[in-house]
Amino acid sequence: MKHVTSKWPHQDSIKVEWNLGKRCNLDCGYCPAEIHDNFSPHTNIEILKRTVDHLAALGKPVRISFTGGEPCVHPQIDELLRYAKERVDWINVTTNASRKAEWYIKQPVNHYVFSLHFDNKTVDRMINQIMQVKATSSIPFHVNVMAHHEHMDRVRSAVRLFTLFDVHYAVRRIRWTEKHDWFDDLRYPRRSGMVTRKRCYGKIQRNYRPYI
Ligand code: SF4
Repeated sequence: MKHVTSKWPHQDSIKVEWNLGKRCNLDCGYCPAEIHDNFSPHTNIEILKRTVDHLAALGKPVRISFTGGEPCVHPQIDELLRYAKERVDWINVTTNASRKAEWYIKQPVNHYVFSLHFDNKTVDRMINQIMQVKATSSIPFHVNVMAHHEHMDRVRSAVRLFTLFDVHYAVRRIRWTEKHDWFDDLRYPRRSGMVTRKRCYGKIQRNYRPYI
């Protein structure tokens, strides 16, 4: 049997995928209620800090990736990031890019993942924020371009822009299956079938590099 060894240089680290809560400022039509809402309470900052303390006490390098919901709507996210940065080794924040570029640039994080959702009117402003982060900061980031079949023109123009300015991105198709078709059931009229949907995507470029 062929022996495969991972080249990822952080095998001895504790990797934490930390969902800060369901609160989000957007309401993407394909995002189920188990993942987001606009009313769940924010977790108390002292509980979050104690959790960081427990992680830091585990005796290994700790790498945290904050997600949600939208983690950046927590009213004390700045404080949490500063607190965590002093105690753990690496921090990523996955965000919908709805905060201002100036805010992203000043946070003590090692990496961002920006998820671009075209199912809302503010996506152009979010693309601008991402390009400003690229132009004015050295914080590495990656963009998940969430390809929505009803907005493929905008998806393609975002991809062209990112390619032109060497922004790392991956196009992620918003999926549905025949079994779990809540996407169309909830918001869109019935369509003729998967073949039609597949045609919407065409050939999309990719500019993906894994982050470390
Ligand atoms: S931004 Fe993310 S968490 Fe918020 S509604 Fe959209 S997919 Fe869900």
